[in-house]
Amino acid sequence: MLLLTHPACLRHDNGPHHPESPERLRAVLAALEAQEFSILVRAAAPEASREALLRVHPAEHVDRILSIRPPEGRSVPLDGDTAMNAHSAEAALRAAGAGVEAVDCVMRGEFARAFCAVRPPGHHAEPDTPMGFCLFSNAAIAARHAVAAHGAARVAVLDFDVHHGNGTQAAFWDDPALMLASSHQSPLYPGTGDASETGVGNILNVPLASGTDGAGFREAWEERILPAVRAFAPDLIIVSAGFDAHRADPLAGLRLVEEDFAWVTEAICAVAAETSGGRVVSMLEGGYDLAALARSVAAHVRALMRSS
Ligand SMILES: [Zn+2]
Repeated sequence: MLLLTHPACLRHDNGPHHPESPERLRAVLAALEAQEFSILVRAAAPEASREALLRVHPAEHVDRILSIRPPEGRSVPLDGDTAMNAHSAEAALRAAGAGVEAVDCVMRGEFARAFCAVRPPGHHAEPDTPMGFCLFSNAAIAARHAVAAHGAARVAVLDFDVHHGNGTQAAFWDDPALMLASSHQSPLYPGTGDASETGVGNILNVPLASGTDGAGFREAWEERILPAVRAFAPDLIIVSAGFDAHRADPLAGLRLVEEDFAWVTEAICAVAAETSGGRVVSMLEGGYDLAALARSVAAHVRALMRSS
């Protein structure tokens, strides 16, 4: 199994006291230093090509993000909760590039699974708007790359981050080759993700009430999401792996524990074994309690390794 990351992802900083901090990725990488993860094949995430970015974002968005390179120690706010420092443009390119590289490796058959330990996250970045700590729509870019560069007929992005992946949804909205299936707390930021939002039949939103625990989460996946993914029969599954539905997370009110993330990962891998030759690319999204994030990523990666 492949693990992609890059030091630039540790240098991107939204500013002091911001929950989407470099410490998040430091905690994740420290957890993955444990002996049980020594068999992971580690590689540096390359920068995404302009061609790959343009499959999701208009040139104006790409040029805007890449043009914001403030001097060391300064930062430029993009909105109320997203900012860029001297290293953010490179981090955004590496985060998107990790997904593209993971897709290349998995679609070529070099690995069945890949995990991209990157930031900034991506699922809130809409085609023409950075938002919600996200600059480029990493999972959507990876999905479009699988279609354009590898001839995948159908790609599913499965998103268990506690927030709705509005950016992925916007990118996929009218593209029947791409499916987004998401469980998320509602009501909650960003306010989208109602069950009535279905695109061209390729979007499945399963909102969960604040306080939902692992049993309610597993029921949503077992009864709603996984059967729909099976019916879609993707050639590749991409996971928007956010861990902020953990009960310890400060930004939301779901009540999952590490075992729930392991369970959903194994369930996703089981569907992948049936429909996509076992191919799963997972990309880090949210997760803001450092200890819970580290334990949850370890449980997720352990499950990816176990079923590969
Ligand atoms: Zn989130």
